[in-house]
Amino acid sequence: MINEQQNLSDAGQKMHLLNLELEDLEKWVQSIGQPKFRGKQIYQWLYVERVTEFDAMTNLPQKLRDQLKETAVIYTMREVTRQVSTDGTIKWLWELYDGSTIETVLMRHDYGNSVCVSSQVGCRMGCTFCASTLGGLVRNLTGGEVVEQLLNVQRFLDEEEERVSSVVLMGSGEPMENYDEVMKFVDIINDQNGLKIGARHITISTSGLVPAIRRLADEKRQITMAISLHATRDDIRSALMPINRRWGIDELLETCRYYIRQTGRRISFEYALVGGQNDDLAHARELAGLLTNIDCHVNLIPVNYVPERNYTRTPKDQIRAFVNELNRLGVNATVRREKGHDIAAACGQLRAEQGRS
Ligand code: SAH
Repeated sequence: MINEQQNLSDAGQKMHLLNLELEDLEKWVQSIGQPKFRGKQIYQWLYVERVTEFDAMTNLPQKLRDQLKETAVIYTMREVTRQVSTDGTIKWLWELYDGSTIETVLMRHDYGNSVCVSSQVGCRMGCTFCASTLGGLVRNLTGGEVVEQLLNVQRFLDEEEERVSSVVLMGSGEPMENYDEVMKFVDIINDQNGLKIGARHITISTSGLVPAIRRLADEKRQITMAISLHATRDDIRSALMPINRRWGIDELLETCRYYIRQTGRRISFEYALVGGQNDDLAHARELAGLLTNIDCHVNLIPVNYVPERNYTRTPKDQIRAFVNELNRLGVNATVRREKGHDIAAACGQLRAEQGRS
């Protein structure tokens, strides 16, 4: 999948074209002395034809292709490993030009192919159940590096004549902490001249950065907001998710109501069931109480095992009882169907495994 001739160490010096929205690409080609229309041609080669080499851009003069080879790169990541689950889920571990590693997951559902991308190398949110945060935050990804994850998966699917139908920002990192680059990614994959993935098919998951959620609400994009709630009481949530000490549950839910008012979109709440901590029926009732009058859907996620963490999973019938109780109280809730359980598909797991060995 990777262009072997490309000098990866150059990625920092050369222009990473996947970082440029169409308008910026047009400006950039003009800055290297080319007419503006070449920008759109290149853009279509990148996102519609999905070529990996400048020589494949056959409607560009050879001189321009040579100039592009000198000054720009398309792909900057190297595939380190790929794990394929029996249920068709595929997880990639990529090495970035600076040696950092990130993960991307392809999940196949009956409604289409969904891709989970990372937005940061590592994470500094410190959620106690999560593998991504074990080594802290290394750096933000650029928008182009997020785009590249998606394009790599789309190029893999091209071989099966399939396409990516939805995108979730639920890989490692806190997307709302890398706001501008994440929005650049959204704009690029939205573009009608390229991948044409609509905002309604994009979900951003956040641990609850209140000001950034408000900012996104004010932009009135049609993105689906997923909130990692995971607890019904501030003391429990603060113990699991340090960010709760900054913005507590009331303020977070008030912000969710604001998001719904501004965008007309329903919110998705993620609730990881952590054995013995937040998973009995009293919690289900409290959760239903908190979510009264919020147009939402609750995704229950049985906590994934992380070796560094000592959490136990909620027994199956208790999960059933939890979801039934929510439904009985009028809350729209489902248990997330687990994908890729055999291949360490929970966020940060593959990267953490690599670090351990
Ligand atoms: N930082 C963002 C997005 C990344 S995580 C956020 O916090 O929302 C995507 C989801 O997986 C989050 O809901 C996160 O809390 C959850 N998650 C992380 N580790 C998990 C684990 N071990 N088991 C179950 N869910 C987990």
